[in-house]
Amino acid sequence: MRFQVMHEDCDKPVAAAIEAYRERDDKSNGSLEAVAYVCLGHVHAAREKWFGESLMPYAVEDNGRIFRCGSITDFRDQQPA
Ligand SMILES: [Zn+2]
Repeated sequence: MRFQVMHEDCDKPVAAAIEAYRERDDKSNGSLEAVAYVCLGHVHAAREKWFGESLMPYAVEDNGRIFRCGSITDFRDQQPA
């Protein structure tokens, strides 16, 4: 597991966790690959980030007590080549 930062200098309260799922070819439930914690203003940016990595974003509410806006928890062992 790795921790990353999507962007700097956003101190707005985190309102959502944008989960990123990798879809399987047979359309069964994908695996959770990563989560980005963002404020309302950065939800779109987080979704675009996951789309850009061929992952399906799914937004859930988050109270933001642990992470700052832009924090990413990445469960992937390594970046796909
Ligand atoms: Zn933000």
